[in-house]
Amino acid sequence: MPSIRDDKEKINREIADEILKIKAPPVARFRLLSRGMEPYHRLDIKDEASDITGDKACLACGNCIDSCPVLRKHPELFEKTEQRTSFALEACVGEDCEQCYSCVLACPQVDTAYKDYIVDEVIPETIQPAPRITALDNYFMAIIALVFGVLIGVFLAR
Ligand code: SF4
Ligand code: SF4
Repeated sequence: MPSIRDDKEKINREIADEILKIKAPPVARFRLLSRGMEPYHRLDIKDEASDITGDKACLACGNCIDSCPVLRKHPELFEKTEQRTSFALEACVGEDCEQCYSCVLACPQVDTAYKDYIVDEVIPETIQPAPRITALDNYFMAIIALVFGVLIGVFLAR
């Protein structure tokens, strides 16, 4: 059985990176890049004509809607529709997307390998340390250096 790590080597990074650059909800595009329904994902359907293996359709579960920070901050945007689909997310958020990728991570129809790629490689590169924290770090380092300087000075003066 292939490990998650093996799966991650098979993803299309080039296309994934292009999608992630677009300032619009990325979940539907990642759904289509993924493998879709696996045979074990839903009911054990005996009728071959009803086989849904490989189906990449939106399940309308609303996970992407619930996870979107833009809709949390501006619930009035969601008044345009009662649907809870990726299409509704695109219609309500559009170019206001903050490119946080929460919708991709929340979608059950996106392959785990793409989620791992985003969490392990994309997010660490895009999130910069907050400048205030860096400034605070420098501030504390200056205090520590000053305290050490005083202690060494006292020690030498004795
Ligand atoms: S969850 Fe994040 S990436 Fe997805 S649409 Fe909302 S802001 Fe954009
Ligand atoms: S999270 Fe649910 S509603 Fe959103 S795209 Fe995925 S399947 Fe569709």
